[in-house]
Amino acid sequence: MLQLARTYWIIFSSIKHYPRENIMSIQQVPFITLNRFEPGFRDEFLSGVASLFDKTQFVGGPIVGEMEANLAAYTKSKHAIGCANGTDAIQIALRAVGVNKNDKVLVPDMTFWATFEAVVNVGANPVTVDVNRETCHWDLATFKQAVEQFKPKAAVMVHLYGWASADTLEIRKFAKEAGVLLIEDGAQCFGTEIDGQSILGTALISTTSFYPAKVLGASGDAGAIFTTNDEYAKNCRTLINHGRTDHYSHGMIGWNSRIGAYESLFLNMSLKHIDARIQSRMNAVKFYEESLKGLPLKPVRATSKVKENGYCAVAMIEPSLRASLIDSLKKANVGYGTIYPGAMSHQSGSAGHLAGKIDNGNAHHISQAVLNLPCYAYITQEELQYVCDTVKKHF
Ligand SMILES: *Cc1c(COP(=O)(O)O)cnc(C)c1O
Repeated sequence: MLQLARTYWIIFSSIKHYPRENIMSIQQVPFITLNRFEPGFRDEFLSGVASLFDKTQFVGGPIVGEMEANLAAYTKSKHAIGCANGTDAIQIALRAVGVNKNDKVLVPDMTFWATFEAVVNVGANPVTVDVNRETCHWDLATFKQAVEQFKPKAAVMVHLYGWASADTLEIRKFAKEAGVLLIEDGAQCFGTEIDGQSILGTALISTTSFYPAKVLGASGDAGAIFTTNDEYAKNCRTLINHGRTDHYSHGMIGWNSRIGAYESLFLNMSLKHIDARIQSRMNAVKFYEESLKGLPLKPVRATSKVKENGYCAVAMIEPSLRASLIDSLKKANVGYGTIYPGAMSHQSGSAGHLAGKIDNGNAHHISQAVLNLPCYAYITQEELQYVCDTVKKHF
């Protein structure tokens, strides 16, 4: 850390010619920054890229297999399959388990739009199911109600914000008993656990995204699918590569969703640091929780069953108070997010695709009440303090 701090000091001081005392007092904090790499990371990556370039290994090659083995080991998955991005990963998973045209698929009303899109893109019909107002995730009761009411073929449960529903295991169990194929969109939950078990690794089939701003980011778009089922794994491998059963034999309609070699290299390197990165994110989440105690901006955390990864610092505020707090953050140059500002069933793009919904108003309420504070790997104590001072001063 000291070394990192020193590097920034040199960069700031050489570019902006600030006197030293101004540099030490922070004047802005971004919502997210991707520039906090471990010392030596850049040079190691660039020399690895040079080596792949010299071997003209651009797509595929041993680096991809290595990366998949490392992913499987870290997530304790039976199978880990790299692909082009997190949206494709959901589509591949849906296809791999046998979701077909016009099948009904449940999705949470509060998620990133890609979850909804993926269902439509495989020809299936999405049904949005509301989330719990307190936990922001699906709960067993609403999930059960949706299964009974809509009799879906499949459901995509989403582990949003860096944690998961406390009911995850019960939802898995109920889905299995009801014959509903459960896919888990884990784009935001890399490294999380429930009851001490890897969430991605113990799902029937789960997916993640390595978009650079995610907890485990790549050097470009990338994603992965994880599964405990051998047949699903085989289907995934076939689907990501034009349905190939042989070089020019095609047993399925797949598409091209191969992962690049540079991204795989970057992921391999990042995996070595992932615990430290998650630790620093968790420090931020815990610092906010402590510092904002008693204020109208209330941090939300997972239940104690779930080991979080600190992807997003989530807090809730009375919707009528949000705009003025945002004004104060803007004036102080503090970045923020509202993840996500609209429920899926309220998006104009969902009209004409929705096959049904359970809407108790919770996803909509959350979309109006949520406020995310800056959170990224290696955020400094000074930055966290500046954010909290800004919030406290506002109130
Ligand atoms: C980021 C994200 C995706 C999509 O991943 P891409 O790699 O951007 O395609 C899907 N679902 C959720 C919940 C996400 O956060």
